[in-house]
Amino acid sequence: MDIKQLIAAHPVLAKVAAAEETVWINPGLQPFASVRPTLPVGADDIADASARLRRFAPLLQVLFPETEDRGGIIESPLTEIPHMAALLRERYGGDLSGGRLFLKRDSDLAVAGSVKARGGIYEVLKHSEDLALEAGILTGYDDDYTRLAGPRARDFFARYKVQVGSTGNLGVSIGIMSAALGYRAIVHMSADAKQWKKDYLRAHGVTVVEYDGDYGRAVEQGRAESDADPMSYFVDDENSKDLFLGYAVAAERLQKQLTGAAVTVDEGHPLFVYIPCGVGGAPGGVAFGLKERYGDNVHVFFVEPTQAPCMLLGLATGLHNGICVQDVGLTGLTHADGLAVGRPSGFVGRVMEHLVSGEMTLADHKLYDYMRALWQREEIFIEPSSCAAFQGVLDAAKSPEMAAYIARHHLPMDHATHIAWATGGKLVPQAQREIFFGTHLAE
Ligand SMILES: *Cc1c(COP(=O)(O)O)cnc(C)c1O
Repeated sequence: MDIKQLIAAHPVLAKVAAAEETVWINPGLQPFASVRPTLPVGADDIADASARLRRFAPLLQVLFPETEDRGGIIESPLTEIPHMAALLRERYGGDLSGGRLFLKRDSDLAVAGSVKARGGIYEVLKHSEDLALEAGILTGYDDDYTRLAGPRARDFFARYKVQVGSTGNLGVSIGIMSAALGYRAIVHMSADAKQWKKDYLRAHGVTVVEYDGDYGRAVEQGRAESDADPMSYFVDDENSKDLFLGYAVAAERLQKQLTGAAVTVDEGHPLFVYIPCGVGGAPGGVAFGLKERYGDNVHVFFVEPTQAPCMLLGLATGLHNGICVQDVGLTGLTHADGLAVGRPSGFVGRVMEHLVSGEMTLADHKLYDYMRALWQREEIFIEPSSCAAFQGVLDAAKSPEMAAYIARHHLPMDHATHIAWATGGKLVPQAQREIFFGTHLAE
């Protein structure tokens, strides 16, 4: 691929390829009503996923008692963070002009401690329901799903494998859920995956296979191994519609929380959402769900590290999974381990083409600064990858690109609500947190 030609065709890539922080407004954004009929997924798919999660809720309560307080529904709090908003204004000059700032705390999701608890767990449950119905272990959707925690079901699932390639959090989500049902769970992990995640998985009976190479290699190997085994199911993070739909269910839950917090979302009250992005499944699924709920009144932005802006490359060039960050001379290496992905999901990119409002990128050192700030001001810990979301908030408040976007769409910012989507953190051990808090990278 010729970098010069790419840059000539898409000038924003000059900054991206130079690993400079970038704000990219999506020129392909279109009114949701015109995009909706063209999408390969729809509102009934989300409703179907949501109903499936409700069917499994009694089982999840049995397998994971920590989910009892929400009746077996894995959901996270929405917390207003005014002190963080004040810090962003005082320290960085990012004034939200009277808009409110919230943190969606998927960092605290039960079972997996990250946003992957949405898509990952959903996909394992969907696969298990399919297998159990086919084998007569479940007689129908109205059967008692807690039966799947019994010895007959466990013996049945133990004949099957579930495998996944992961930088860490997806592996935790898929591994823990699969092992809890009795599957032989195998997680193929890239070199940048944190040691504690490998230890955690092994302690839960999951087989962890380690690779020297990056995420792409771990996925490739895992897929090849799984494909060679008819009793094995591979969770394909790059193309999975099920993962995507599991994430999309977040929106109906968020809508209830916003209503509960007296937040209106309509033409006079825009909603801005900033989500850290890796391969794209989590932010894409959430974004799709939000567009189905709020249409043009929600403005979704993805945030990526300057060295791994794969979705930005895919969207800006229209090449999707036909381009990777190495093609423009970037390394793909970043402290944001959850976002360390070199090639975006083609499926997600094509769905997002006309839905996502834009993207921001940030330098790694800021991840730690935002992490410390959130802890100091709000006493909330989230992992460094998650902190990318605050770059979105800041750029929305002060970048010229966003000022132009806001003016073009006539958005009343004094009545806006901003949500930074915290994607992970709960399971990070204390010793690892101390290391993060002590990490200061050069600018
Ligand atoms: C996986 C992950 C993301 C992004 O999800 P993708 O589906 O890879 O785009 C963001 N933050 C954290 C902490 C993650 O683990």
